[in-house]
Amino acid sequence: MNPLVEFKNVNLSYGRHEALRDVNMSISGGEIVTIVGPNGSGKSSLLRALIGALEPASGQIIRAEGLRLGYVPQKLHIDPTLPMTVTRFLSLPSKVSSSTVSAALTQAGVSDLGARQMSRLSGGQFQRVLLARALLHKPQLLLLDEATQGLDQPGSAAFYRHIEKVRDELNCAVLMISHELHVVMSASDRVICLNGHVCCQGKPDVVASAPEYRALFGSGTGGALALYRHDHDHAHGDGCDHDHSHESTT
Ligand code: ADP
Ligand code: MG
Repeated sequence: MNPLVEFKNVNLSYGRHEALRDVNMSISGGEIVTIVGPNGSGKSSLLRALIGALEPASGQIIRAEGLRLGYVPQKLHIDPTLPMTVTRFLSLPSKVSSSTVSAALTQAGVSDLGARQMSRLSGGQFQRVLLARALLHKPQLLLLDEATQGLDQPGSAAFYRHIEKVRDELNCAVLMISHELHVVMSASDRVICLNGHVCCQGKPDVVASAPEYRALFGSGTGGALALYRHDHDHAHGDGCDHDHSHESTT
């Protein structure tokens, strides 16, 4: 099967500032992929390039023909003085039918919020409405940029459980960015560790034990990660640029 999206030697910059260099990766149908990396490591830039909002300085981004994307941005500012209901928000900028709006709200787990004012939503409700917006057109690939920022631990765990349910319903792939490694990584098929470039990628257990990953995050991440931890003898000593995706996971 062809991948939904493929990055080939992609470089991203803002003017002269290089945000990401030489990214090679691909996402296939139905996969859950998590991107982890410190602040400023280029995670949001990668998603913006994927949706076409940021043109690569060089390299290629190949999307499957007619690919339907759903995108939950890291930040979205809505003028609090502007009266706008949830339903109205979801029917901007392109008109969608009210049945589509209510189906998306239901799928996002907030079927009762349609008539509410955007400015009155709690953080968790606002995230669910952004999720509903991303689900309007039944995406084949759902992109979540730190979607649980500002939610407490039970709130974000519930959010990720909900994402898994949505994934099963839609049969879509999910590419998510998160810092909450212990919540996220266990559900991922693959993890990509970024720090201005792809430091390492592979199955969660392989990445969690990779020296490049540990150098960035330490080994004290606890939770589900501990489950995966095992001691590889990574002979290569230096730092980055190893692709672990083909290593054995024993
Ligand atoms: P992350 O999401 O991992 O925190 P970003 O992709 O937002 O990282 O940013 C990567 C790098 O690009 C950072 O050094 C950041 O300062 C820079 N950057 C991000 N957006 C812009 C922008 N609009 N203009 C200039 N530099 C930017
Ligand atoms: Mg970001």
